[in-house]
Parts: sequence; C-alpha cells; structure tokens
Amino acid sequence: MTHVYERLGIKPIINALGPATRLSGSIMPTQVADAMREASQYCVDIASLQARASQLISQHTGAEAGYVTSGAAAGLLLGTAASVTGLDPSLMNRLPDTTGMKRRVVMARSHRNFYDHAVRSVGIDLVEIGIADRYSGAGVRDAEPWEYAAAIDDNTAAVVYVAYAHTVPDLPAVVAVAHAAGVPVIVDAAGQLPPASNLRRFIEEGADLVAFSGGKAIRGPQASGILCGRRDLIEAAALQHLDMDILWDQWNPPIELIDKRHLPGAPHHGIGRPCKVGKEEIVGLLTALELFVEQDPDARRAAWLDMMKNLMDAAGEIPGVEIKLVNDPKRSEIPLVHAQIDEDICGMTALDVIRQLQDSEPSIQANPTNVREGGVGFGPMCLKEGEPEIVGHRLREILGTV
Ligand SMILES: *Cc1c(COP(=O)(O)O)cnc(C)c1O
Repeated sequence: MTHVYERLGIKPIINALGPATRLSGSIMPTQVADAMREASQYCVDIASLQARASQLISQHTGAEAGYVTSGAAAGLLLGTAASVTGLDPSLMNRLPDTTGMKRRVVMARSHRNFYDHAVRSVGIDLVEIGIADRYSGAGVRDAEPWEYAAAIDDNTAAVVYVAYAHTVPDLPAVVAVAHAAGVPVIVDAAGQLPPASNLRRFIEEGADLVAFSGGKAIRGPQASGILCGRRDLIEAAALQHLDMDILWDQWNPPIELIDKRHLPGAPHHGIGRPCKVGKEEIVGLLTALELFVEQDPDARRAAWLDMMKNLMDAAGEIPGVEIKLVNDPKRSEIPLVHAQIDEDICGMTALDVIRQLQDSEPSIQANPTNVREGGVGFGPMCLKEGEPEIVGHRLREILGTV
C-alpha cells in the first residue's frame, strides 16, 4: 500500500538530528494521531476546549493557568502581547502599535536568538543588557542580575529569559529583580524537555509565563505548544488569540479562562489570531502531554540508548573517525553519538560527511552543530526501528570502509 508521501511524490527522510521544525518535528505516538483524527470528527466551542486544556496544563505544570498555542514561538508572541496590554481590550486592538504603552522588553544579549522575532513582532522595543564576553573568549562574564535591575523602568512590560542548560544568570535571581519592580518574567523553555520535571521547574522558580514546544520531546502535533503561568496573563493571551467574531450579548466565554465581567467590551481579533490552533492540535497536544508525563523516563532513556548503540555497532571501526557515545544523564536525558572526523585520514571534512548523508537515498539528516570542529552528531529522538543501523552503515560507506 502506498503512503501519503508517496502519493504526493515526497520522499521521507531518516532523521538522526532530532525534532527540528525544518525536518517536520517529531513522530507522534499513534495514540496522539488517533486522538487528533477523532477530534477532527466533531465541532466544539474552542474557548471551552482551551479552558479544559488550561486545567490539565495546570495539573502538569503547577501553573495557575495554561493555554495551547501553535508553538513555543507563538507562546512568546502571546506572552509578550499579554504583558504589554494586560486586560485592556483597547490596547489589544492597537497592537503592534505600542505608542504610549509599557513597551520595553528586557533581554540579555546572550539570550538573543532567531525566535525572539516573535517577541519583537508585538511592536515592543527590545532592550539588550549585559556583555557575554565568556562567548567571545575575552573574559568570563555575562549578563548579571543588577544589569536587569538597572534596565527595568516604568515603561518595561516584561523580561524575556531563554532557558537552556547553561543559561546565566540563574532564573530565580532574574525573577527577584523583575518582581521587585513589578515586571513579569517570560521564560522560553521550548526545548527544555525532558526532564519532565522542567514542566514545573520554571514556574516553581517564579516565572510568570513559560513557553514550551509541543512538537519536540512531548511528541505532540508539530504546530502546537504550551503557554502556562499567571491566570491574568493567560487570560490576556487568550483574548488576543481566540477568534472574536461574536456578538457581545451572545459571547459566553468559560469563566475559568476569561472573566467577561471585568471587561468593558470584547477586543477585535488580536495580534495572536494568525497563530490559531485547531481542535486537533489542542486534543493532540493534551494527549501527547499525558503520555509524555506518564512515560517512565528510564524506559525512554533505555530505548534511546539502544538506538545510539545500534548506530555505533553498525558504524563499527572506521579509520580516522572517533565515534563516541555522549551519555551523561546528569547533563541530559538524551544520549547522543558524536563522530569526530580526521580530515587528513578520511579525505573529507565533517561538512562533507553531513552533505553526503543528506544526499543519500533515503536522505539522512545528522546534526551539523559541531562541523567546524570536525564533529558530526546523531540523536535518537526521531529515529524509527531499523534506522540507526541504516545510518551507521551509510556512515561506513561514505567513509570508504565498505
Ligand atoms: C524550538 C525553539 C523555539 C520554537 O519553538 P516552536 O514550538 O517551533 O515554535 C523557540 N525557542 C527555542 C529556544 C527553541 O529551541
């Protein structure tokens, strides 16, 4: 039987990189795909579904409220918009024109990344602080809490903080200075799962909003994400995301999500409306989140480890290539394989290897992060049964050992 990609004339790839958006994200568990199919066969009130999602996300994150977004980047956009406007519909209607509003958003230079376009798209002024001379090799320092404090003023809407394994300063220190000035902290935790404990960690550390991707380790729909945090901010985010094509007198939003009694009127379609999510994404994300939280982390790790070992076994000994298992449970729950290419012995660079893997049939995607230092990376998260062996064997072929 042909599958849908064959009918479209598109060749699936072997993804030994991981859940990257340009490679279509992760592979959903069949339970998630089934739940989405089922969801697609009914019509529901979307606000009520989001209100239920809010309860379930609260249970898993410890946050006051939650919301299903179309991705972590959409969560950053909505969270920023919520921080700028609060619950004022007239301000919501004016975005991205932020004239006269609290419009400064503070961010460490070392946290800046391509995804903060989502923050800037709200029409704010991004205020960069700190000098990350630990990256330039000139020194040992990076942004410090007092620099956040110095940058925050009466026109500051939010601090955006990007969480990764080595982020400095520590989140609690940033939260302390931001909260002292009454400013919310939005955490980009898009890729910070696993461990599942991170679902609660940033909220426990005082973040006002946290954005996660649904299409990475959670293995939900690729176009899904979670925004969780303070109830009033989630309400402001929902008001700027939900479709508002409804008469005020007819409008009856679920009170757990939107308390209509506090509003002078309903906003128009908001700045978040282009990032809409369907019932399929909401149900898919909730199903995937449940599975992710229930899964035994040791079993998940063991399965990933097996895949990486199978890849290494299939690659075997290759002259000029040092293949190492990167397996440090304290640093990451995800075991990886690192192949160090000696250009002189192999007659090709790491980038050559990456490109030949990519040009293989089927195309194999590896991680190019360390190519400049001669490294080719492999990860287990999007590999299917039998694929680690194909990747290892292909590596042998490319490097002339077969
Ligand atoms: C992946 C990622 C995003 C974007 O997440 P989406 O769910 O694809 O929108 C944002 N920030 C960081 C740090 C990421 O790694």
